[in-house]
Amino acid sequence: MEKLFGFVDQQIDRFLDELKTLLRLESISADPAKKTACATTAQWLADHLKAIGVRESRVIPTAGHPLVYGFHPGPAGAPTVLIYGHYDVQPVDPLELWTTPPFEPTIRDGKIFGRGTTDDKGQLLIHLKAVETMLKLEGKLPVSVKFLFEGEEEVGSEALTAWLPGNKELLACDIVLVSDSSMIAKGQPSINYGLRGLIYFQVDLETATGDLHSGSFGGGVANPINVLAELLASMKDENNRVTIPGFYDDVLEITAEEQANYALLPEGTAELLASSGAEMAYGEAGFTTAQRISARPTLDANGIWGGFSGEGAKTVLPARAGLKVSMRLVPNQDPKKIAALFKDYVEKHTPKAARLKITEMHGGRWFMCPLTEPALRKGAASLEEVYGKQCLFTREGGSIPIVADMAAVLEKPVVLMGFGLNSEQAHAPNEHFDLENFQRGIKTSLLYLHKLAQ
Ligand SMILES: [Zn+2]
Repeated sequence: MEKLFGFVDQQIDRFLDELKTLLRLESISADPAKKTACATTAQWLADHLKAIGVRESRVIPTAGHPLVYGFHPGPAGAPTVLIYGHYDVQPVDPLELWTTPPFEPTIRDGKIFGRGTTDDKGQLLIHLKAVETMLKLEGKLPVSVKFLFEGEEEVGSEALTAWLPGNKELLACDIVLVSDSSMIAKGQPSINYGLRGLIYFQVDLETATGDLHSGSFGGGVANPINVLAELLASMKDENNRVTIPGFYDDVLEITAEEQANYALLPEGTAELLASSGAEMAYGEAGFTTAQRISARPTLDANGIWGGFSGEGAKTVLPARAGLKVSMRLVPNQDPKKIAALFKDYVEKHTPKAARLKITEMHGGRWFMCPLTEPALRKGAASLEEVYGKQCLFTREGGSIPIVADMAAVLEKPVVLMGFGLNSEQAHAPNEHFDLENFQRGIKTSLLYLHKLAQ
């Protein structure tokens, strides 16, 4: 391993130059004017795979931005690792807040600044440089490696989601490796083993054909705001538990092993108060803040409207009211089942006096890689060797739908080995990536691929 690590140290400036070349390509997936830039970036990656000695590589056109696929066989019988990343980036505005232009990568204070540095070009290139190092020095890889890069992660992964189920064989693997997330803190390696899922609804109520005079009609017809408020309030009890029957039936309780893991992490309240400005922590009784925001399901109104909210008083009895409401889901809640339970509850508890319309909006599955999964443990061991510190395991409250989809479609463990930092301004001006994590990331990746062969 020393020889490989030495090569990484010795070549790091060239690796950084290549990262800069990749960063200069303006692959903003949301911007139709950058369609060609996205295609150019995909082609650059396919060419780069070839250049570093990966046997097979090609651009796969889709209805949206292209995918990039690569494959290099390892020894017979060795496992196959599928490395996922995305080459598209977020838009760059507001441009005036960037210290240096987003597509002119610049190094200062041990960081590389530019759009896509931490999310996700810098993290993606880590694995290419690890593979290059092994092919150059050892002439072979310890495992078979497949690459899958997409250009629509920042806009919902539509093309990949559609393409995935029909290409299970091409993507057949034993482990999926994703570097598109953050570690807890600089110098403190961590692996994210869980993400929450999401379902989202709009509920519209109508009680009359138009707004009415509250003197002439008040008391005689239903008020949609009152109805909606009662309906919403009834969905939570005094312990902040969701009251929809069956909502918790399939929730996987936090295991003893996870409890022990949570004990190694901050309890979460201090961080929550500092970053939110909230008066106090508030949530489901019986759980810590860290658990509430990662391992427990939620139901939250995201918006509510109706009636008069202008200056002064208007004696109106509104005809319509509306609500946006979402639920974060955890293993093993089935989004379809919970969606049906929600609709059923709303239909049953809305008085006949109100016309009801429920619209289901976008959603995503939860994801979990069990703490006992050997591929996860080997990932942690690799991080520990390179960083010289115990690796922690985190569960996160957010959702990355494509990760959950890959886990579900390929039915293989997904290891989220993030080399970014939460402070690195992903999606914001002055996005950057820590150079030490870039270098250590390459070493971790090549060590990990060796460990997976054992
Ligand atoms: Zn990303």
